[in-house]
Amino acid sequence: MIQSLTSEQIAIVLEANLTGKADGPLVSQIVIDSRNILQPENALFVALKGAKFDGHDFIEEIHALGVNVFLVSTHYKIPSKISKSAIFIQVEDTKQALQKLAAYQRHLFQGPLIGITGSNGKTIIKEWLGQILGQQYAVAKSPKSYNSQVGVPLSVFGIEAGHQLAIMEAGISRPQEMEKLANILKPQLGIFANIGTAHEEGFDSMEQKLAEKAKLFESCRFIIYRKEHAKIGQHLISVFESEKLVSWSDGIGADYVLTVKKEEDKSKILLIRPDMSVFTFHVPFTDEASLENIRHVITAALTLGMDPKLIQEGLNHLKAVDMRLTLKPGVNQSLIIDDTYNNDLAGLRLALDFMAAQRPKKRKILIISDLLQIGDISQVYEEVQKLLNYHNIDFLIGVGEDIGSLQGRLGFGSQFYRDTEELLRNLDLEFFDNDLILVTGARKFGFEAIVNLLQQRIHGTTLEINLNALTHNYNFFKTKLLPQTKVMVMVKAFAYGGGAAEIANHLQQLKADYLAVAYTDEGVALRKEGIRLPIMVLNPVQESFIHLQQYDLEPVVYSPPFFRELAKFCHVQQTVMKVHLDLDTGMHRLGFEEQHIADLLELIQKYPQLQIGSLYTHLVGADEEIHHDFTVGQLKLFMSMADEIVSKLDYVPLRHALNSAGIIRFPEYQLDMVRLGIGLYGVEVSGRFDSHLKPISTLKTTISQIKSLSKGDTIGYSRKGVMDQAGRIATIAIGYADGYDRRFSNGKGYVLIHGKKAPVIGNVCMDMAMIDISGLDEIKEGDEVVIYGPTISLKELAERIGTIPYELLTNISSRVKRVYYLD
Ligand SMILES: *Cc1c(COP(=O)(O)O)cnc(C)c1O
Repeated sequence: MIQSLTSEQIAIVLEANLTGKADGPLVSQIVIDSRNILQPENALFVALKGAKFDGHDFIEEIHALGVNVFLVSTHYKIPSKISKSAIFIQVEDTKQALQKLAAYQRHLFQGPLIGITGSNGKTIIKEWLGQILGQQYAVAKSPKSYNSQVGVPLSVFGIEAGHQLAIMEAGISRPQEMEKLANILKPQLGIFANIGTAHEEGFDSMEQKLAEKAKLFESCRFIIYRKEHAKIGQHLISVFESEKLVSWSDGIGADYVLTVKKEEDKSKILLIRPDMSVFTFHVPFTDEASLENIRHVITAALTLGMDPKLIQEGLNHLKAVDMRLTLKPGVNQSLIIDDTYNNDLAGLRLALDFMAAQRPKKRKILIISDLLQIGDISQVYEEVQKLLNYHNIDFLIGVGEDIGSLQGRLGFGSQFYRDTEELLRNLDLEFFDNDLILVTGARKFGFEAIVNLLQQRIHGTTLEINLNALTHNYNFFKTKLLPQTKVMVMVKAFAYGGGAAEIANHLQQLKADYLAVAYTDEGVALRKEGIRLPIMVLNPVQESFIHLQQYDLEPVVYSPPFFRELAKFCHVQQTVMKVHLDLDTGMHRLGFEEQHIADLLELIQKYPQLQIGSLYTHLVGADEEIHHDFTVGQLKLFMSMADEIVSKLDYVPLRHALNSAGIIRFPEYQLDMVRLGIGLYGVEVSGRFDSHLKPISTLKTTISQIKSLSKGDTIGYSRKGVMDQAGRIATIAIGYADGYDRRFSNGKGYVLIHGKKAPVIGNVCMDMAMIDISGLDEIKEGDEVVIYGPTISLKELAERIGTIPYELLTNISSRVKRVYYLD
């Protein structure tokens, strides 16, 4: 924070009531959850109410960590236990108060603030501009993509007294949000990166979206935009004075002309300035998105008066960066967190948080370079040391001069190297064994080489899982439910192909209430991976009873004979087991039928060893309107069967009936719990809220070889593929053994390369498939191929071969590596 404040000062800023003990501490850190509270005595905890949980519920827990100052809602009833020992600042709306406090801190910052908005590239522009300007100024920037109603205030608190310049991004998803962010940030220089043409939920029209985003710039002296984005230009010209607008363009007619000449793997950018002076920049990439982003950066640096030579100096160190924190399988059962693009404390904090959220492994190992952090070096590394202790790091490998200052000061094992090469020469892969390894380094240290070495050899095909999208989908379904309704998430079949352990762990973070798997083995595997949530097993078999007991799993019981078997087992073992009763109301798969109820009630009386945790039924056609009446019939029958059972019990089990489609179509039957499946994985089967869910997985492979063929040549087994004219084909590293369905053969399926469609030609083979790339001249061997993902809809692919998205998802072979990331 720029200036520490007393609780009294904060109360004045917020025009809030203050209760609790007098002369409290100075507040220098604002926190919204229990992570990373390094100096609890100087922290202010802001209790925010979110879709997932309510910060007010954690106040006592956080007070126990040593935090004494709380910003709470006036509706919060202060527990008498802590009313004397803590200070409470009470406001109507804690999120608004957080924003107000950020606006106050922002006013205390003297240096220029650069605000970036747009649909794509905000984070990249911010990072690159930070690197270029960082050569001359102490730059504060928002960590990763902190650009929301809460992220922006937190970013502002990250500005410290020594910073000379700040770069912040602002993102919105509905009207009225930008005004709030603009009020906090009050940028002097604005960059309007671009505007996506896609319809964004939350906005009625393109014009509305544009007008909303442009509100960020009301305080700006200069606003940068690209002339080719005509709609942006038109809008800015109609709203702002022309002296404020700084345009750049590929061609003439803008303030800055920045023309691109692409070469093999780099590009030249020819600059013509308003005074007609010229300069040539060299950048290490050729793709359109990077070239647009970098030209925004160059224009901003020029507008701030930076010398082109110094800008080029900074460009020499740029790379097309992957900003994501990625979780990858590594050598000897280790997991690697790849953060090879981090250079400051804020980034390190985020990466350590991400590390803390992973399932436990044998050791926590940190491989870290010098931080490119301004200010007093010894203070910076003191802070690093505190962070490492707080996160219980077991071993540290440090690279660089500055980080070497930690040598001899850590209470755990460590190694230090002068540079990355020295480390690579000395790295012993056998040292790692079932560890969690965070690799975090500033770009110039080239830590990618370390990650490459530590990674398990990944064959061409990977399934990437976006954990943010998973969170998004989970929260979307939460908004369809009452706050008290519990959510059981179906992670059967390897979490619909996504990888059960990682997804279950993420759900545990999201505070899901229950998990469900199909077989006992799946539940055992989750327990061995450290998953603690209650787990229901849909189809336990008798041989696995002992495992149910050992691993605290809760079986589904579906028939009187099965009830008897399990009850006898518990009787012999002298144990009690929580079970769930499946009531068959029309699925006719497993389950008690109406005629079994009398038997069932007798069994329940006779065997108190089985405690009924819940009663449920499964809907057969919740996604389809034509089955509406049948579904309602199922639900009514379930209610009456459940009532009959519950009336004979002296305790009340949970009741649940809805799957993903059911949540959408029959929310009035959410009862005590719902069972979320396919929707979490990004497919909205009822079709009503398609655009609200985000696909969570992308299946990718690479091109192994390209061949030029003549008219009449045939391709693959049985000569099914025929070239009807001369052209090129590519062989890709995926086949039906990986889960690429053989029914995609002969043009039924297609893939995307550089965003372009290429149809399958010939029969899909076991480990490979061939695609027709005639006419797509820029494609070369080694290029990435998208099988499905955000840009190819699973529903459409499934329809092409007459199946359902469920089957495509769950067919991905376990030999395909899963990689998880946060974007
Ligand atoms: C798989 C399954 C679900 C989840 O169904 P979705 O359509 O994927 O939401 C719910 N309940 C039971 C019993 C299931 O087997």
